[in-house]
Amino acid sequence: MSQPALCVFCRRHAVEQAWRPFCSERCKLQDLARWADGTYRVAAEPNDADEDPDPDDADNLKSDL
Ligand SMILES: [Zn+2]
Repeated sequence: MSQPALCVFCRRHAVEQAWRPFCSERCKLQDLARWADGTYRVAAEPNDADEDPDPDDADNLKSDL
């Protein structure tokens, strides 16, 4: 009656005892990497200005050429 727990990362495959709560080493590593990446971004992102480069600059350069 009890359904197998699903991998907390992909939520598609049943948890493997060796890698629980994940279904595989791949999902475990990807989940850890995702958390590490998210933590890094939050700590190293003073503002979001750099993510929106001014498109006008690129157009001006092309026009000059
Ligand atoms: Zn998985």
